[in-house]
Amino acid sequence: MRTPFIVGNWKMNLTLEEANDFLDQITNKLPDTNKVECAIAASPIFLESLTKYCKNSPLKSAAENCFYKDKGAYTGEVSPYSLSDMGINYVMLGHSERRKYFNETNKIVNKKVKAVLKNNMIPIICCDETMTKQKTDNHMDWVVNPVAESLNGVSSKNAQKIVIGYEPSWAIGTGKSASVSETQEACCLIRKTIAELYDEEVANQVRILYGGSVNDKNVKELMKQKDVDGVLAGTASLKPKEFLEIINY
Ligand code: PEP
Repeated sequence: MRTPFIVGNWKMNLTLEEANDFLDQITNKLPDTNKVECAIAASPIFLESLTKYCKNSPLKSAAENCFYKDKGAYTGEVSPYSLSDMGINYVMLGHSERRKYFNETNKIVNKKVKAVLKNNMIPIICCDETMTKQKTDNHMDWVVNPVAESLNGVSSKNAQKIVIGYEPSWAIGTGKSASVSETQEACCLIRKTIAELYDEEVANQVRILYGGSVNDKNVKELMKQKDVDGVLAGTASLKPKEFLEIINY
C-alpha cells in the first residue's frame, strides 16, 4: 500500500518570520500520517527551523535541491551530507526551474539522486513532460528518458524508496493544471516505465505525484486516480489555510 504524499514547495518565497508563522498555523492540523504523509520543501535558510519543528510534528522536511558532492570547495552549494546530518527527510531534485535556470540535466540529476540515497534521504525526482514530448511523436519517450537517466545505476532496493513528480512545466505556477485524465495517463506511464526498468514490485512501491497548479478545488479528484499517489503544491503551499485544505482533502 502506498501512503498518499503531499509536498508543499515554498521555492524562494517567505521570510523566516513568515515561514515560522506558517508552521505555527498548521500545528495540530495535519492529517494522520497513516492517511496522508505531508512535507514542506524549503530553501536552506529555513531548514534548521523546519527540522526542529518536524521533530514534534508529523510533518516531514525536504530540501529543494542539493549538490552531488558531500564536502569540498563548492562555494554556495548545499551538501547532501549536511542535509542528512540536520535530519532532512527528502530532497527535491530536477525541478523544472532548476533545469530551466540552472541548466540541470538528467545526468546531473542522476548524480544527485545517488548522493541523496547514499546519505539516507529520499529523492523526489521531478520530470517535466516538455523535456522530450515536444520533440517526438512517440508518447513513451518523454517519460522513459528522464526517468531512466535519473535512475541510471540505482539499485532496485533504493529505487523503490524514491518519489517521482510528474510536473508539466506549462502547468507550474500558471493556474492551468493538467486534466485529471492526462495526469492519470502520465503517472501510469511513469509507473510502467519503472516496471520496465526494474519490475512490477518496485513499480508498485514508488510513489508518483502530480505537480502544477494544484489547489483546494482540484486536489480531491487528482487524489482519486489509481496511479496518482499525491501532489506537489507550489503557490498553494504559501498560505497555511490553503495548504491545510489541500492536505486535508
Ligand atoms: C511546483 O513548482 O512544484 C509547483 C507545483 O508549483 P505550482 O503549484 O505553483 O504550480
